[in-house]
Amino acid sequence: MNLKSGVRNVKQSETPSALTILFGATGDLAKRKLYPSLYRLYRKGHLSSGFAVIGTARREWDNDIFREHVKKSVMESTAVQEQIDEFISHFYYLPHDVSDSDSYVALRTLANDLDNKYALGGNRLFYLAMAPEFFGTIADHLKEDGLTDTEGFGRLVIEKPFGHDLPSAQELNEQIRRSFDEKDIYRIDHYLGKEMVQNIEAIRFANALFEPLWNNRYISNIQITSSETLGVEERGGYYETSGALKDMVQNHMLQMVSLLAMEPPISLQDDDIRREKVRAFRSMRPLTLETVNDYFVRGQYGPGEDGMLGYREELNVNPESNTETYVAGKVMFDNFRWAGVPFYIRTGKRMPLKSTKIVVQFKDIPMNLYYRPDDQEMEPNLLVIHIQPEEGITLHLNAKRAGHQLQTTPVKLSYANSGVDVMNTPEAYEKLIHDAMRGDSTNFTHWDEVALSWSFVDVIAEAWRNEKAAFPNYPAGTKGPKASDELLEKDGFFWWPMNMLDVNICN
Ligand code: NAD
Repeated sequence: MNLKSGVRNVKQSETPSALTILFGATGDLAKRKLYPSLYRLYRKGHLSSGFAVIGTARREWDNDIFREHVKKSVMESTAVQEQIDEFISHFYYLPHDVSDSDSYVALRTLANDLDNKYALGGNRLFYLAMAPEFFGTIADHLKEDGLTDTEGFGRLVIEKPFGHDLPSAQELNEQIRRSFDEKDIYRIDHYLGKEMVQNIEAIRFANALFEPLWNNRYISNIQITSSETLGVEERGGYYETSGALKDMVQNHMLQMVSLLAMEPPISLQDDDIRREKVRAFRSMRPLTLETVNDYFVRGQYGPGEDGMLGYREELNVNPESNTETYVAGKVMFDNFRWAGVPFYIRTGKRMPLKSTKIVVQFKDIPMNLYYRPDDQEMEPNLLVIHIQPEEGITLHLNAKRAGHQLQTTPVKLSYANSGVDVMNTPEAYEKLIHDAMRGDSTNFTHWDEVALSWSFVDVIAEAWRNEKAAFPNYPAGTKGPKASDELLEKDGFFWWPMNMLDVNICN
């Protein structure tokens, strides 16, 4: 029997012709991510001949300097350089001051010229790859100076962070909503562009095997880890105002939680998925100042082996800093599906391993008929979703130990994405730019999600602001503070060690 296809609901449209106006064109993000992504889209035929990019920033560059810059950034990212000169011929540059109206008038004139030259139909993507304090000013000018006044679409793509708490996010949102409708605002959370994060929905909703078990009858807990080996590097100034809670938990971690916890949507249409994610956010158990420390713990790295600096010794960091470089927490959902199932999250810098993984731990079988060698306990079934650096899925099962009638041994069924042609696996930004051009906002964060996640996180931030932590509490290069292990131990669980979950290792 063929299943009825839901594809009718999904935007599979061609990429329309469009002009991308990139603010912050000389910056780090544009160089490392955006130009290589645009090139890959171009090479794959996703940008028609009808595309043009205007780069703007403070520097007094001209088209030639800009095109060389774009070319260099592409060449640093890929060995394939076919059609690169044709590609960069679509790039134009204007020096720009974000608060000066004359800059926008010049921009409008150039945009209108390129509209005609490339027959772009007035479609515009305004990509703000700049510090968020400029977002409101730019959005105001885009409207006031007539850049959004065209026949085609006008979409605003903005980078994180979206505010630093709920009130600042609300203020920013009100600013940009003066010029853009919610449906035209594409807030980037680049985790949502990752292949394996997008795979969460496919694993859940395209397999008869998992969704029937995806609830508190069969799942004992879910663990999401995102660890980095690096410290703050040269970003100490920014990190001091953010910390792991705002830098990682409010956005990436809670987004992954919501994809795992949401109810099945009625289609893969952006509105339908968003509705379910918002419902999931709304059923998260809210914390109070009194309960925060029962659910969340924080850490900060001190000096480690091989001369690794402690956080407080890093550049632009207060020597008495109270900023957390590690967070672990327990998120509970008060709804029928998830009542009683903890979703544990942890994220930190200067960990032993760079890894983002989701571990779904199933409940123990009701009765064990088998032995394990040396009286070891039978292991629970695990579904591991490897987000990065490896991409894949592993299912941990128990099978009979060869030659031993009554003994079992753990086995892994693994699928590693590394077998796929790497050049053709789209990078997160590539997918997100492509989606924004096609008008598919599924993998962007809607204001309701941003607001709900800030209200959850703000209570934690406030509790921690009021209380000085005993930092540092884990040496650089180790797996975080003891309190993180204790958080699970008191529920009878433990963090699954990252190294035993490798996608490629078979027992
Ligand atoms: P950056 O400092 O490297 O670049 C900033 C850009 O803004 C430069 O092109 C600069 O010329 C321009 N600019 C600054 N002030 C200006 C002004 N008054 N008028 C005109 N142009 C001005 O920053 P970045 O690392 O590229 O980050 C940009 C945004 O992306 C930020 O919101 C950041 O949080 C976000 N982000 C960056 C990364 C990354 O990997 N770099 C990752 C995620 C999010």
